[in-house]
Formats: sequence, C-alpha cells, structure tokens
Amino acid sequence: MTQRLLLIACFTSLSALTQAQQPNRAGGDPKLSEYYDPAIRVVAPGKTAADAPADAVVLFNGTDASAWESKDGGPIKWKVENGAMTVVSGTGIIRTKQGFGDCQLHIEWRTPAEVKGDGQGRGNSGIFLMGKYELQVLDSYNNKTYSNGQAGSIYKELPPLVNASRGPGEWQTYDIIFTAPVFYPDGTVKSQARITVLHNGVLVQNNMSIWGSTQYIGIANYEKHSDKEPIQLQDHGNPVSYRNIWIRPL
Ligand code: MG
Repeated sequence: MTQRLLLIACFTSLSALTQAQQPNRAGGDPKLSEYYDPAIRVVAPGKTAADAPADAVVLFNGTDASAWESKDGGPIKWKVENGAMTVVSGTGIIRTKQGFGDCQLHIEWRTPAEVKGDGQGRGNSGIFLMGKYELQVLDSYNNKTYSNGQAGSIYKELPPLVNASRGPGEWQTYDIIFTAPVFYPDGTVKSQARITVLHNGVLVQNNMSIWGSTQYIGIANYEKHSDKEPIQLQDHGNPVSYRNIWIRPL
C-alpha cells in the first residue's frame, strides 16, 4: 500500500513538472512556475554594444583620465590626446583609483600602426584584473609568439580559443566578464577567479578558471587579497593606446 502511494506521488509530481514545461497542455496551472518579485532592474543600454549602458562606471571617455593614477599615486604620465590614452614608455603602469571585483568590463585598445619588433616586443601591453590577472594585449596579427602569451590569452596561463586580432593600428575591443577569486580567512583559495572574454566580438575565453596571479617566470599562484582591487594597464615599452573604457560592477 505504502509503495503504491509513493508511486502515485512520484507520478503526480512528474506529471506536474511535464505540464509546467508545456503550458499549453490542459490540466496544470502555468502560474505556479512564474514569479514577479523581485522585479528585474531596468538598465538603458548604449546605442551600440560598445557604448556604456546607463549603470556603467565610465573609466575613460576619450578625454578625462581622472579615474586613473600612476604607480606612485599621482596623475598618469601617459599621453591623453586624440580621444585615447597612450603608453609613454618608462612611465610605468596606470591603475584605477577605485577597486573592482566581479565585473563586466569593456575596453578598446590599439597597437601601433608602425610595426616594430616581433613576438612579445610588438604592441605589448595588458589589462591586469584586480592588478594581478593579466589579459594580454599584443599585436598578434601575423606575429608568432607562444600561444599562451598572445592577444586574448591570460598571460602564461590560458591561450585564447582563436586569434581574432585586427591589424596593427586598428582599434580592437575586449568585452570581459570577470569573477573575483574568493579566499578563506587563512588565505587558501575557496574559489578561483573566472573569466570570459570576447575579442572583437569573438569568444576567446569561455568562463575559464584562472590559476593564479600572472607570473613572468614560474607558475601562477594565488595570494589572498581583498574582494575589490584596482584594474591596472601595463607599460611594456610599446605605445599602445586605450579608449572607451567602462565597467559594470556585478
Ligand atoms: Mg603584456
């Protein structure tokens, strides 16, 4: 008897589930699987996917670099002209004054039209999420280098799925979805950082786990840090430019 009741109960719930997935079928109430609270917040999108949505923090609009500081904490020493911020070799990294963790970041970059050098020496810069995890910026258009060091890679960790590079001197886009790592109080990693990247609209990192902070030599490793850290842009000696940078903290 008990078994029979159990079977009927199972069959009834299975039947309810099937009907919920097929609202046109008679006998179920489709409203049982709908809710209105919480309502979804409205965000006015930009005119194009490259334009900042209404709730974004604009980090650089082409003229105002006040969201950034140099490595010594003063104003940036990069060139701000013609709607772009351009690396001045030897002046060092720049970083946001504000810290960010989980985010959606849009950033546009351009390597020099005049091709000089090769491999890692050609149009090298980088976007360091939380100041630690480098999404490589490089002129990777017909420019051979190690796979996990080319444009779209998480430097020395994750190669991009494809090479979606435009040519030297052309503006390129990164659309990044980043999840910050989470640490236990003792500094061990509870969950690794994760990243999704579209390069010029093409998926190059698909919700990948980052192994740790970027290292030039040796293996990436995690060191406990706060849940919000500045974003850094790299001075690697090449006059790489940036424009239209906006972020949505998540
Ligand atoms: Mg770099």
